[in-house]
Amino acid sequence: MHCPFCGDEDTKVNDSRLAAEGRQIRRRRECLACGERFTTFETAELVMPLVIKSHGERQPFDEQKLRAGILRALQKRPVEQEKIEAAIERIAHRLRALGEREVASRQVGEFVMEELRHLDEVAYVRFASVYRSFQDIEAFRDEVDKLRTRRRREPLAGQLSLLGGEADPAGKATPKGAVPVVGKPPRRSH
Ligand SMILES: [Zn+2]
Repeated sequence: MHCPFCGDEDTKVNDSRLAAEGRQIRRRRECLACGERFTTFETAELVMPLVIKSHGERQPFDEQKLRAGILRALQKRPVEQEKIEAAIERIAHRLRALGEREVASRQVGEFVMEELRHLDEVAYVRFASVYRSFQDIEAFRDEVDKLRTRRRREPLAGQLSLLGGEADPAGKATPKGAVPVVGKPPRRSH
């Protein structure tokens, strides 16, 4: 690497050893041009990717949130804590191993479902049903957002329908905060 003091390209490694219990390599270097000595540390880059929500918003990976979701699905199920922690560890490992800076939240959900399928069938079904319907709501919200942007871009159409006194079907959208039910009848719990 270049010398941080004079910028010369020629630096020599005098000593190289393991540090931080083998997680780092520490190198003593010397610049052949100015004679300065410095140390570099080499570590593997194991950064958790950011999670991309369906709206495109990026959030840091939150292990606590992941654990909470898994525990909720496993509530009152006969699964050892140790196995749950191992599953969380595997999910985190797989996410790091992707080597991506960002992953879709859907990908995280798929990993969770794979682990739950092995841990406990009931928890798997619980998680999958909540997760899948959540995905539906998110997708629905995206559609609504798209509609809103389109309407903002076409103000003339909106004006015309106002002037004409016509009922604007999109204008009848459910008030903010309420979750409208489209298509499917509401799910009933047995
Ligand atoms: Zn130098």
